[in-house]
Amino acid sequence: METYYLAVTYDVCVHNDLYEDMNQYPLDSTKEMEKQVAEIAKQDIAPVVKVFIANSADLKGDVTLYKEFYFKEFECNCTEYVE
Ligand SMILES: [Zn+2]
Repeated sequence: METYYLAVTYDVCVHNDLYEDMNQYPLDSTKEMEKQVAEIAKQDIAPVVKVFIANSADLKGDVTLYKEFYFKEFECNCTEYVE
């Protein structure tokens, strides 16, 4: 059975209680994961990207959370005004 790595970008704002999934991207398992995830985060301006392991190319089969990546530089701007 094949294993698929899928990255999901999340839009997060703690101030507005926002935690919303945006897009799904299949990862190329032959390439470095962190590099691909960083590119995806930049494209979507996503502060959180989760990588899931799935047994199908979409997220409909068995899905396991593999790793979470955080990108401080893409956090919502409203954090700047808090404190
Ligand atoms: Zn915010």
